[in-house]
Amino acid sequence: MAKQLEKSSIGNEDIFQKMANHEQVVFCNDPASGLRAIIAIHDTTLGPALGGTRMYPYASVDEALKDVLRLSEGMTYKCAAAGLDFGGGKAVIIGNPEKDKSPALFRAFGQFVDSLNGRFYTGTDMGTTMDDFVHALKETNFINGIPEQYGGSGDSSIPTSQGVVYALKATNKYLFGSDHLSGKTYAIQGLGKVGYKVAEQLLEAGANLFVTDIHEHVLKSIKEKSKELGGSVTIVKSDEIYSVDADVFVPCALGGVINDETIPRLKVKAIVGSANNQLLSDHHAKLLEEKGILYAPDYIVNAGGLIQVADELYGPNKERVLLKTKEIYRSLLEIFKQADLDCITTVEAANRKCQKTIEDQRNRNSFFTRGRKPKWNIKE
Ligand code: NAD
Repeated sequence: MAKQLEKSSIGNEDIFQKMANHEQVVFCNDPASGLRAIIAIHDTTLGPALGGTRMYPYASVDEALKDVLRLSEGMTYKCAAAGLDFGGGKAVIIGNPEKDKSPALFRAFGQFVDSLNGRFYTGTDMGTTMDDFVHALKETNFINGIPEQYGGSGDSSIPTSQGVVYALKATNKYLFGSDHLSGKTYAIQGLGKVGYKVAEQLLEAGANLFVTDIHEHVLKSIKEKSKELGGSVTIVKSDEIYSVDADVFVPCALGGVINDETIPRLKVKAIVGSANNQLLSDHHAKLLEEKGILYAPDYIVNAGGLIQVADELYGPNKERVLLKTKEIYRSLLEIFKQADLDCITTVEAANRKCQKTIEDQRNRNSFFTRGRKPKWNIKE
């Protein structure tokens, strides 16, 4: 019988307990450049792990580990939902992005990524930019989300916004029987890289918008745009966006905006937006359902950018990315219908769909390996 292992010396808890169902965690240490990073590979059933690298001044290694484990698991679901041949991974660099960056640090990080030999592909996330990854690119090819001037596919907010528009069409189809965007009213929170492009496409389709942002100039700009594109724009204060008389709420700014305080104020029939982690907690999906508000799970809606990043491995091609992004329409309709059939929330339906995709692939993998002979014939 295997000898009882002593508890890990990292933290009080056994490191393997913390890893839960993650495949691999790599601690990267390069004292010369000051690099301290953690790469977490959650699940590679569907393909090599894919996920951005976040740089943040974590208060402790434990905090960094918790974050990277949580984020890498989320990536497994995002990749499965988008039908990508990638699994979930993520990396965090412990440090202040304002003060602690250097070319040497990112080159050292690139070497660690390279050492995984294609098990992990990464790119920018909160606190890191492509200028940082240009240094990592000198050490490894396993980087994606590359700017056009370096031969990549460029701005991911373009497919993300297109994905949001397909999701809005699917929602209209489900709720109103037609996927036309015109004649409906949308409340957009945040007119940044994604929200602004969504607003433009909705105006072009003849929609009416309530909009809010903390930056005055983008509000003025979209009001001006409506004169040439059509539709109508009503600007409201940040906090008023939750209670306007609209058909659909389109959160494109912050996470956690669907919570105990905002749900009672919502008058919309659906929520469809790009913001990550819109629900403050899972039980808010149930509260929305009870209030009769259809929720389009954020990670299904905002997959366009990820689809582009994954597609980059075949070389940049905007048409192909658009075609793949269009799948969000069908996928979301399927989730709405399944949630109805099984009497579960749309979040639960989306999660189950991803779990099934991964499980099916796992079974296929074991089918192919079933007949394989072991290399060494070791007798007990
Ligand atoms: P962004 O930073 O360009 O835009 C966010 C906008 O929200 C800004 O204009 C900002 O002024 C505004 N804002 C901030 N706080 C606000 C508030 N309290 N009220 C109203 N407006 C506020 O970001 P983005 O790239 O457009 O992304 C928007 C959301 O979508 C984020 O949650 C992001 O994580 C998510 N997302 C983006 C992509 C992408 O490809 N860019 C992909 C997936 C998910």
